[in-house]
Amino acid sequence: MPEPESESTDGLAIGVDAGGTKVEGLVVDPGREGRIVDRRRVVTPAEDAEQSTSAIIEVARQLLDGREGVRAIGVGAAGMVDLRGVMRFAPNVAWREFPLQARIEDALGLPTVVDNDANVAAWGEFRFGAGRGTTDMLLVTVGTGIGGGIVAGGKLFRGAYGFAAEIGHIIVEPNGPRCGCGNLGCWEQVASGRAIDRLGRQAAREHPEALLAELAGGDPEAVTGRAVTDAAKNGDPVAARILSEVGRRLGEGIAGLVNVLDPDVVVVGGGAIEAGDFLLEPAREAFRQAVEAPRHRPDVPIVAAAMGNDAGAVGAADLAMSKLTEQERRST
Ligand SMILES: [Zn+2]
Repeated sequence: MPEPESESTDGLAIGVDAGGTKVEGLVVDPGREGRIVDRRRVVTPAEDAEQSTSAIIEVARQLLDGREGVRAIGVGAAGMVDLRGVMRFAPNVAWREFPLQARIEDALGLPTVVDNDANVAAWGEFRFGAGRGTTDMLLVTVGTGIGGGIVAGGKLFRGAYGFAAEIGHIIVEPNGPRCGCGNLGCWEQVASGRAIDRLGRQAAREHPEALLAELAGGDPEAVTGRAVTDAAKNGDPVAARILSEVGRRLGEGIAGLVNVLDPDVVVVGGGAIEAGDFLLEPAREAFRQAVEAPRHRPDVPIVAAAMGNDAGAVGAADLAMSKLTEQERRST
């Protein structure tokens, strides 16, 4: 007999990925391998905390409309989120001391968990993606900046206040490029999409004959990370060198984090992963050079994330459901 298409007995959860410019919500069945049951997306103007909150509530309402069985809501948002789900600060978004979790809970009347976007993505990859079967996992998301999520001993590691794993803001280049957090030379300024953009523009000025300059229509200021990746995939050595340099910085940083955390696996996600092994191979090589005593420790695989853009929302939903189940277990 085919498996019935019924939902699992544990119920459903909504997971929301609240990005800077769009809010995507999923209905997830955590008891069935994080299966996605439904999805909605709303475009939201960046730089406005109130409008972003309304968009999150709107997406969740659309998903709840006429549907039974949703028991919890999880939200992942970029920035520093404390243990009560207050958005304390975000380098690139408008969140400042904003009680997002309480606002959503009040509006929808469902148990809600708000956590950092990379934390929930780490949880998604750990439960259902590239980190499955491990106990200790580091997620590094390489997008415009660098986010991180740590799973330690099978649990999401949040620190004393909820701010753990802000790995993009370790200073690796004193007096380096200015970061959104206010410091100079943070890791995310030299090893993320922003670094690829910056080195790409510089290379297009110095090598106007290179394919990456041509792909940007000859305007060095129009060079994006995507043009660099496309050029590298089409054999442009200038573009390949840029990805190799950024990959090297990525691998060196990962080595430092592996020295601290000792994970079984490092999962690399985020938009820059489109560059594939142009970025990851140099990262693996630099990692092997930089990690402490590589010949005296098990190999730590550095692998691409498996769940794409859904990792955050699926992870947020599962996290919200896990928290609810734990609370229920404690109260019985
Ligand atoms: Zn920074």
